[in-house]
Amino acid sequence: MALNLDKSAAAFAEAKQNMPGGVNSPVRSYRGVGGTPPFIASASGSRIVDIDGNEYIDYVGSWGPMILGHAHPIVTAALQSALLRGTSYGAPTLLETELAKKVRQAVPAMELVRMVNSGTEATMSALRLARAFTKRDRIVKFDGCYHGHHDSLLVKAGSGAATFGVPDSPGVPTSVAHTSLTLPFNDIAAMEELFVQQGELIAAVIIEPVPGNMGMVLPQDGYLAKVRELTAHYGILLIFDEVMSGFRVALGGAQAHFGIKPDLVCLGKVIGGGLPVGAYGGRHDIMSCISPSGPVYQAGTLSGNPLAMTAGLATLGEIMDNPDFYPQLTAKTKALCEGIGAAAAATGVAIQSHQLGSMFGLFFNANPVTDYASAATSDQAAFKVWFHTMLEQGVYLAPSQFEAGFMSAIHSDADIEKTLQAAKVAMQAVAKSNKQ
Ligand SMILES: *Cc1c(COP(=O)(O)O)cnc(C)c1O
Repeated sequence: MALNLDKSAAAFAEAKQNMPGGVNSPVRSYRGVGGTPPFIASASGSRIVDIDGNEYIDYVGSWGPMILGHAHPIVTAALQSALLRGTSYGAPTLLETELAKKVRQAVPAMELVRMVNSGTEATMSALRLARAFTKRDRIVKFDGCYHGHHDSLLVKAGSGAATFGVPDSPGVPTSVAHTSLTLPFNDIAAMEELFVQQGELIAAVIIEPVPGNMGMVLPQDGYLAKVRELTAHYGILLIFDEVMSGFRVALGGAQAHFGIKPDLVCLGKVIGGGLPVGAYGGRHDIMSCISPSGPVYQAGTLSGNPLAMTAGLATLGEIMDNPDFYPQLTAKTKALCEGIGAAAAATGVAIQSHQLGSMFGLFFNANPVTDYASAATSDQAAFKVWFHTMLEQGVYLAPSQFEAGFMSAIHSDADIEKTLQAAKVAMQAVAKSNKQ
């Protein structure tokens, strides 16, 4: 059942002559079938088609944004008509206020909203704002959480819990990394210990409330509430990075699902409907410090771009006008995960399957996965067999178990059925390779 990826292989070779690793974002470069990732020619609904003509059921969804599926007719029509009115003005539009209102309606913690162009920009700006507001320098992140690629957050844990961060990339100054402290996710004792020592020096805790960038991990019962309580006690701002989980685990994101009110929120992905958008927002008194109403500088030539706002508005319109949207999406995601779980159980393959709303993930691991350290003990060889066998059968998953999967509203029961047939074959292949 080998795929023909000859054209993709040639395209990848040429791309590598022109771009580092042949890609514009590292996760896109992987040795799929025949040592190349498929190069995509088009997408529609639940399917993407590569340049060799192979069609796949897509559970990557551009890494999260495509919650309505690809080339949704209403989003496409809105974009076509917006296009004719010009693509960028660098001046205020009605669209920006409209999208800000919709976002605030879904995420009430965002009393004021600033649009930017990516999730990275949102978290970078939120941190600057938090540091300015609290007049403190240090920030706390969690090992295995990803918030974009700027210096302060491209940091991993040093040795032991609650140590100074160390750069996670060459080029990140040690002095910057040292202002970023890292903690293990789901570990309240480690957070308490850190705050006792340094609580008065910490501006903000930034967290993926439902992490999706170490694979999908769930917060334990009461964990986020305790994080909220401790940060408030020490005057530390709590930033929920819901760039991925926003509009995914629930309409109002993880904060709605778990009933927690953060001080600042970062969004991206779904709110751009497949165009480049990020946003940050939060308490009125904090957001009022942003220029031009306050002294904290942050700007963007293309921020609030009319095409991007249009795609976001059309997408959120479809989501928010339909009371059945989340129940249906969640039920489909559950059915998929249960089916994959059954396929694993039938073949004796140990997995940890996680799902909330339309986000899901699985680890090839016999033990619970609750943080980065436990995620890292997962079986990489088993994942490789799983991934390749699924791809060969026309199911497009993220090429790493340390990434989440995404369901869209357009995935049909037949898509899920076909995926589960493929999963049975793939789990058998994993079981066979485990025995060797
Ligand atoms: C994707 C992601 C980001 C970064 O967003 P970009 O648009 O890729 O810059 C930040 N935080 C989280 C949680 C993400 O999943």
